Amino acid sequence: MQKLLNSHAPPVALLVAITAVAALACDPGSNETTGPLPTSGRVFKGTSSTPGTAGAPGAAGADSGPGVTPVEMFGQLSVEGPQLLGEDGKPVQLRGPSSMWLNWESDGYAESFQALEWMRDHWSLSVIRAAMGVEPAGAYLSDPDIALAQVTTIVENAIEAGVYVIIDWHDHTAHEHEDQAVEFFAEMARRYGEYPNVLYETFNEPQQVSWGVDVKPYHEAVVASIRRHDPDNIVILGTPSWSQLVDDAAIDPVKGTNLMYTLHFYACDHTSQSRALRAMQRGAAIFVTEWGATKADGGVEGDLCLDNARQWTDWMRTFGVSWTAWKLDNCSDLSCYFPSSGAPIDGGWTDAHLSGHGPFVRDRMRE
Ligand code: MG
Repeated sequence: MQKLLNSHAPPVALLVAITAVAALACDPGSNETTGPLPTSGRVFKGTSSTPGTAGAPGAAGADSGPGVTPVEMFGQLSVEGPQLLGEDGKPVQLRGPSSMWLNWESDGYAESFQALEWMRDHWSLSVIRAAMGVEPAGAYLSDPDIALAQVTTIVENAIEAGVYVIIDWHDHTAHEHEDQAVEFFAEMARRYGEYPNVLYETFNEPQQVSWGVDVKPYHEAVVASIRRHDPDNIVILGTPSWSQLVDDAAIDPVKGTNLMYTLHFYACDHTSQSRALRAMQRGAAIFVTEWGATKADGGVEGDLCLDNARQWTDWMRTFGVSWTAWKLDNCSDLSCYFPSSGAPIDGGWTDAHLSGHGPFVRDRMRE
């Protein structure tokens, strides 16, 4: 934790009490800039009923029209202060799934065009996150052709389906791979920067490193590489301590336009929104690119914490905080939407196909 101490850090006496898990719960300061908080945004509502479940959205929801896709509805996104806006300048909240680490996914749910369209129409999906593993064996650094093929499939499916897509550099030590990230994101921006569908997430979860020394300079280099090809699409920036310390970033933000900051929560371990509220009051826009109704290990151990998770999803709705929920895959973790076997790849899922926090995530996506 010593590396967290910098000139912008909260008082030392309070910092010593911070651990990665407890970070959201403590209140390190009163010398805050108090600006307006964001408001709830319009959400996309799918246009078909869901087989096998009650309370489906029916025809079009109040915010969308029949056959209108999320990107047709919201267009080119932008950020103003803490608020994500559609092309018409009105607030927007995006909701959808995150893939598994693509190098570790089981059966390729995230690459299925049919599943993506089905989730758009039946789960009201407006965004999907492509979590491209970087460092492990079989991920981008060792097998770039495989990783690029997975990412480009997901991005091009999203463009075809009219939904938003986050290209996530899924790395815990990205500041040690800056040259590779700069090259990767420049290529992604060159290929896809003209499409309003695409958002870039430059650094999944920095660990216990300094925002000012380690993380911010990395983001500045990657944002510059993106902006050489794409002047306007959203870039989402990871924050220290597994994307918890959004208020550290808000005190010393990256310069530029259409930038947001990453907050991750796992509802059994993270129960306070105070850091996010302080960050937003300082004018930082937040995107929750990962969450689970589980422990922070993704539900390898423990039970679901649905009351806490509902508090978080209600909070995100209130403040128009967009989200993608971990993870669209089949496994025994409670954060896998599907059990280890039995769920078809291409959609059509009923309650019987879902497991862990899958039904909860689906219901939050659709409400
Ligand atoms: Mg663009």
